Amino acid sequence: MGLRNHLFSSVQHWSRLVVFASLAVVSCSENSSVPDMLAPDLVVHGGKIITVDNDFRVVSAVAIKDGRFVAVGDEGQILPLGGVATQVIDLEGRTVIPGVIDSHIHAFGYGLDRSSLNFATGEMLTLEGILEHVRGRAAQTPPGEWIVARGPFSLEFVREGRLPDRYELDEVAPDNPFYMNTQGHDGNVNSLALEMAGITRDTPDPVGGTIVRDEDGVPTGELLEEFAWGPVERLTPVPTREDMVEAARLAVEGLNAAGITSLVDMDGPLSESRDKIEILNQLEANGDLTIRWHVLTRFRGTEYANASAEVIDEAVRDIGAPSGFGSEWVRIAGIKLSLDGGVQGAYMREPYAEEQFGAGYRGILRGWDKESLKLVMRSAHKYGVRMFVHCVGDAALDLALDAMDEVDDELPLLGLRWTLEHAGLKPTERNLEQAKRLGVVISTQQPMGWTIGKSFKRVWGDELGSNWMPNKTWVDAGVVVKGGSDVAPIDPMLGLWTYVTREDITGAVSDPIERVSREEALRMYTINGAYGTFQENMLGSIEVGKLADLVILGGDPLTVPVDEIRDIPILVTIAGGQIVYEADSP
Ligand SMILES: [Zn+2]
Repeated sequence: MGLRNHLFSSVQHWSRLVVFASLAVVSCSENSSVPDMLAPDLVVHGGKIITVDNDFRVVSAVAIKDGRFVAVGDEGQILPLGGVATQVIDLEGRTVIPGVIDSHIHAFGYGLDRSSLNFATGEMLTLEGILEHVRGRAAQTPPGEWIVARGPFSLEFVREGRLPDRYELDEVAPDNPFYMNTQGHDGNVNSLALEMAGITRDTPDPVGGTIVRDEDGVPTGELLEEFAWGPVERLTPVPTREDMVEAARLAVEGLNAAGITSLVDMDGPLSESRDKIEILNQLEANGDLTIRWHVLTRFRGTEYANASAEVIDEAVRDIGAPSGFGSEWVRIAGIKLSLDGGVQGAYMREPYAEEQFGAGYRGILRGWDKESLKLVMRSAHKYGVRMFVHCVGDAALDLALDAMDEVDDELPLLGLRWTLEHAGLKPTERNLEQAKRLGVVISTQQPMGWTIGKSFKRVWGDELGSNWMPNKTWVDAGVVVKGGSDVAPIDPMLGLWTYVTREDITGAVSDPIERVSREEALRMYTINGAYGTFQENMLGSIEVGKLADLVILGGDPLTVPVDEIRDIPILVTIAGGQIVYEADSP
């Protein structure tokens, strides 16, 4: 039996409600009942509804009409509002939170992963299990066609601590070229893929990459870094328009099932953003878009870092509308610009701990310097487009804030809520003061610390690696911090747990002083996310007049033992007053 049936009131309860409602009406009016057009469409009652309003009020009932909350408060006051057509959900003591907002997610990528062979699920894997899945996929794939997989988050997620070699892959997929990418760094392929890419024992290692070999010099199927696996990846099919439509559909379905009702999508260069908006508009027109999707336009350093002010101005103007433009479901978010790389490319004040990059290596800037950055920022200011600046390393953070500070001297930034994505490390007093004064929003993704936190420490050293995502420091400085998943598992309950515990997959805790409270973590995934897109008056909390997005949970994230937060099931997701997901069984 579906949970909806379970949750929706029994006939008995229903008739009692109707009687109660008519009695209430009779008592206040002699000759009419509440006209049906005024009755709510849905009443949710009988549990702990965490509103995440300013006072973090907990109520026992809400009423929803035309996609918005029309009453929030006491069940004794709200139940009588029901009319004959009102649907009623009895929570039976369960907990409700506002619809979850993921402020940094690669949603199309997530959708594509759902349709491909995906090992980045957060589950513990075995070598045998991986090979079984590849065998299963090969059985459904015509000979000669590619099998492309996404590898696990890190080797910590594989019991044997390694990935299959070419010979093991040949056994399960002898007739299909196979390629798996793990975290954008490692490629694992079978013999057919090596052959098609022309990689043999005679192929020299490319600069910046390694073809791993056995003692006889024969490639094992492991290719390290893009320079090594790029030649294989370029042979794999690119997603078609239909693939992208299907990816969007699968993303909506999977994200709604996780309780997510709104997101900022980090994917996409300019032309692709247009395609994506078209796809999303189509989904919306068909009534299939049940997640509020904010689309960014990516400005790549390779394309724009050396461009003239005129070229940049034209590119920003070409976005075609200011941030926030769009419908209730699809909106322009702004410009995504990546200053530096990730774990191996974060731009740092001091050299990396790990020596594999060479002495004095401080990471990479993706072409940008302060002047080129300021050119984009000035045009963004001019056209009302918000900046979302990716900066992982501490030196990248300095650069982003200094550029904003200088732009602010001519064009005030306070109130524009420009965002720093990741803002990964050790803010100085100056960084904190600037962020506060310029009204900058910080977007962090603590779940990434769970999946690859160990790599941060290995590459950057224990101290910097532990400090990654200093959430409490930002919060205490009075800066708004919003939460997201990036390319870690999308599950917001796992996400809440990581913000509260700062544990990684090995159980190690990073900088416990940077833990935030459960309430603060919940704000990061709800009202702070809404603030980040200027929607705090529409979304992010359960208050009268706001869009009716909420999630019914199988546990209370504010009171369960801390390690149980991550396992709290999502039972029902409601977006705009409609049930968009319900779990199969309670
Ligand atoms: Zn990202």
